[in-house]
Amino acid sequence: LYDRDGWIWLDGDWLPWREAQTHLLTHSLHYGMGCFEGVRAYAGPGGTHLFRVAEHTRRLLDSAHALDIPLSCGAEALIQAQRQCLARNGLSNAYLKPTVFLGAEGLGLRAKGLSSHVMIAAWDLGDYISPQAARVGLRALTSSWARHHVNISLCRAKTNGHYVNAMLALNTAVKAGFDEAIMLDPEGYVAEASAANVFLFRDGVLHTPEVTSCLQGITRDSVIRLAREVLGMEVRERRITRDELYLADEAFLTGTAAELLPLRELDGRHIGARTGAPAVGEPIADDSLTARLQALYRRVTRGELGGELSAFGDWLTAV
Ligand code: PMP
Repeated sequence: LYDRDGWIWLDGDWLPWREAQTHLLTHSLHYGMGCFEGVRAYAGPGGTHLFRVAEHTRRLLDSAHALDIPLSCGAEALIQAQRQCLARNGLSNAYLKPTVFLGAEGLGLRAKGLSSHVMIAAWDLGDYISPQAARVGLRALTSSWARHHVNISLCRAKTNGHYVNAMLALNTAVKAGFDEAIMLDPEGYVAEASAANVFLFRDGVLHTPEVTSCLQGITRDSVIRLAREVLGMEVRERRITRDELYLADEAFLTGTAAELLPLRELDGRHIGARTGAPAVGEPIADDSLTARLQALYRRVTRGELGGELSAFGDWLTAV
């Protein structure tokens, strides 16, 4: 990733990609104290746009505030920098990673007198998950690694150090031959996947865990709003047990990069078998709720805002 042409934004300056380096004593490298975002841009009918960049930028600033990292730049400057990052790098279908980190002035845990920095890098995402793979979905394993607890981590913050836990869970599941991990909170209720929120659909109602141990995902919010406002569905945010996922008619994961991915199997149980879901490894049906929400999400992110989606124009920011 580091050996390529391009520009990376750091604290208001543009650095040539290969020269965008930091000192080995950078505090965040040692203790994981920092926060970041994953934002997407898409090519739409009206040109390139960022998707829900205001909400991502707000979550970045909220994360920094919760971690008590002072920042000298505000939302407007960061949104402007993200737009420029795409234009300057000639990107349209891209992933942007704004990141806040602490400088190399000292390594103490008191983090006294440290500078804070914001960088933004972006790269081409293309078709990150092919439409075929997005229909086939994932086989997951309930993880033996618990997700964060509100008294251990700041669950609302997208903290760099949180991803040690996510990687332990994901890589344990992958080594065991699965695609993804479903993580429970410390009390044993469903929290989320390694880097995506989880939903289940049963008897006409959509359910998703409340945001205590999971990240307050922006895709999660988009899907809740599309389900409620476009499909007129009931959506409940509440505690969910792992067997509810086994017994769901459908289940899916949401995240900025992955968008909506069907969860087809958990711990060897074929989700939705009872209601006639296609076999695991086969694409889901076009008239499933997951496929319908995928289609709505696809249209809204790609800027195809005709008809019932006209109310969502403020989710797009032209570049
Ligand atoms: N949970 C975790 C742990 C994540 O890393 C992500 C990806 N940012 C999500 C959920 C989904 O959040 P979003 O929809 O905002 O990308």
